[in-house]
Amino acid sequence: MLNYIADQWCDEQSSLVSVLCPGVMNSESVYEVVRTYNGLPFAFRKHFERLKQSAALMGLEVPFTCKELNSIIMEGLEKNKGFQTQDFRIRISLMSDGARSRPAIIFSDLPSPSKDIYELGVKISISPFLKPSADIVNPQLKMPGSSWIVRTRKALGDNYDMLILNEKGNVCEGSFSNVFLVKDGSVVTPDIRSGVLPGITRDNVIGLCESLEISVEKRPVPAWELFCAEEIFITHTSVGIVPVRRLEDKVLIEDFTDGMTRLLLDNFEGYIMTEDSNWSGL
Ligand code: PLP
Repeated sequence: MLNYIADQWCDEQSSLVSVLCPGVMNSESVYEVVRTYNGLPFAFRKHFERLKQSAALMGLEVPFTCKELNSIIMEGLEKNKGFQTQDFRIRISLMSDGARSRPAIIFSDLPSPSKDIYELGVKISISPFLKPSADIVNPQLKMPGSSWIVRTRKALGDNYDMLILNEKGNVCEGSFSNVFLVKDGSVVTPDIRSGVLPGITRDNVIGLCESLEISVEKRPVPAWELFCAEEIFITHTSVGIVPVRRLEDKVLIEDFTDGMTRLLLDNFEGYIMTEDSNWSGL
């Protein structure tokens, strides 16, 4: 694939960023992951706004407008058309290069998730580490490596993701996902003040619930509620809604042919494709 690194298109072998730049040496960088649906970047304006927010928190300039970045990405999609088997995953990083920030835009294939994920659900666990409080690290700062504070590769084992609790012992989010529970016919998700990253998929799931007149509670969620939930699912950009079959040793649900998660899964793509805010604002 061709990638856009430090203002030039280059292949995977040529790196145009010095290992000595602060973005590499001191991890002074922020990022977003965007995916395409039918060849078009999904919720691009929302990702751009979140990138800008992270960059402001890190004190990095954003060297392009939303429209300019979108043009670079459309150019990259065109250049990489020959490689595409399905949709693309595009990682947009901004790295400090001292006085300025340098973009690295990496294109990769987005394989379709295995059918098992949607039909059988995944296993997740609870991280032994807590999410740093918002007074220490602003939860809206999306920077590389922050997930490894709470999820080491070894601890992850065969779990799809690990849920993180905040300093109050309430549920926060996964290391790369937001979390939802189903209780008494309502959908419950930790509120922003619980320390969550405002996930773009989370926002869409909330919008979807509202459009289906399903009540959504955004509130602090004590960890024990996870173990009494009727259903749990997690959400993230690349895969959308991911049903959870097992939390630690507790099997929540055996199959997802019925129930709230199934209802939301069945309606998710139709909702996001027609929700204007996901496609406007460029
Ligand atoms: N929470 C964290 C900590 C994340 O890193 C991510 C995604 O990378 C999410 C939640 C999910 O956000 P989105 O739905 O925008 O992918």
